[in-house]
Amino acid sequence: MAYEVTATRRRPKNFDELAGQEFVAATLKNSLKTGHIAHAYLFSGPRGCGKTSAARILAKALRCEKGPAENPCGVCPQCLEIARGAGMDVIEIDGASNTGVNHIRQIKEEVMFPPGSGKYKIYIIDEVHMLSDSAFNALLKTIEEPPPYIIFIFATTELQKVPATIKSRCQQFNFRLIPTETIKALLAQACSETGITAEDEALFWIARESTGSARDAYTLFDQVVSFSKGHITSALIAEKLGLAGLDILNEFSEACAANDLAGVFSCIDKALESGIAAEQFVEDLADYYHSMLLIKAGVTKESILGYPVSRFPAKILEKLDTIRLAHAGELLYNLHRDIRYSVSPRYELETAASKLCWLDRWVSPPELTEAIRGVQTLLENPENRQTGENENARRSLAAANHEAAANSAESSTDVHEDANQDESRLSINRLYNQWQADKKKGSNDESEITVPNTAVPQSAAVGSVDPVKNPAVEAVLRIFDGTIVNGEKNEHQSF
Ligand SMILES: [Zn+2]
Repeated sequence: MAYEVTATRRRPKNFDELAGQEFVAATLKNSLKTGHIAHAYLFSGPRGCGKTSAARILAKALRCEKGPAENPCGVCPQCLEIARGAGMDVIEIDGASNTGVNHIRQIKEEVMFPPGSGKYKIYIIDEVHMLSDSAFNALLKTIEEPPPYIIFIFATTELQKVPATIKSRCQQFNFRLIPTETIKALLAQACSETGITAEDEALFWIARESTGSARDAYTLFDQVVSFSKGHITSALIAEKLGLAGLDILNEFSEACAANDLAGVFSCIDKALESGIAAEQFVEDLADYYHSMLLIKAGVTKESILGYPVSRFPAKILEKLDTIRLAHAGELLYNLHRDIRYSVSPRYELETAASKLCWLDRWVSPPELTEAIRGVQTLLENPENRQTGENENARRSLAAANHEAAANSAESSTDVHEDANQDESRLSINRLYNQWQADKKKGSNDESEITVPNTAVPQSAAVGSVDPVKNPAVEAVLRIFDGTIVNGEKNEHQSF
């Protein structure tokens, strides 16, 4: 028997096999059972999620000798004809290549002739949104008052492009993306049917990569099967398709978390040497940091993360919070957009990687704004100035920051961040004291951690373009310092 691609071989034959579209299947079955047959149906939804299959099943159910039946028998001549795609009375038209009004006129003439066999003559028009305006107008009259034996089934991936006049004359069904778990189950069935074994993680990867389309999943599955020699593993997929597997991504992020720039560069070198394209590596890294952000936010579902939570390094999850993980994602997504225009993708990747190395020291603009507000509060309360550490200062600082937090969307979204943010709110206080102490010591040692020296590299490390940068803190501290030295509030320096 000739080789048949999995997508064709496993095309659903009845409504029960229509994976991920339970609502559509149940509604259609019910209307067949009760005999409420519409003149025109409109199936909309993303590609590869079962619209054409559902149209064929519906055609079979309507034309079956035992029909209209909610479950077509699959053995009568009409059923077999549709399964072979050879029926004279089930006409499939691709809207994309038959967009003109002439094609529709032809249909208008044809519908005058009853079906050669069976009860219904069915037109399935795929990608119906591609029809021209005049074609739609010509079609309109036909679907308004068709002969009783004519049924139209339209399918479209772009519902918004279908004129409202057509939509209002059709029974509409919205198809959804098939859940990853469901696709994985379909792939597992395909494996067992063909005697192939597969790692769970590998099937998950294929299912996730297909983004809700069963057809995409089967196509990718066939490709993977072709080099897998009967056993599908994620390591082999990563190797053959030039992807960064989880191991190398973990290695990369661990080096980053340890501020080990040399380790990060050697990791990139290893990845590119093994045949992973820089663009692909950036894409995989972006996904990876995004998954960690989700984990940090409490997501544990494997189908969303792509891997079990336990496969991600706990060390890094401990070290980075959602603000910094979101920033990493942003950095990588921006890079992914830009990298295709880059003269040297590798250099861009390495530059981004060096920024990721300093991720734990990065301060977000809202955090910085809050810190500056804290200083402002201190400035406005002269009695607090002499002793930055005293309890009053701390309290007024905390109060000001509490207000700032209430106004800040970031702070309210993540309760786990509270502890960290309290830290950062008070840290300006500590920074100031440290800065003062360093100044008193008169230390000129560059390696000494002083505010001006750490503040600049932090923002430089992330290449922030936001107006509020760490040098602002330094400026604030200078003003703060000035007012203490003068012992009086200088109006020109107030905020
Ligand atoms: Zn039948």
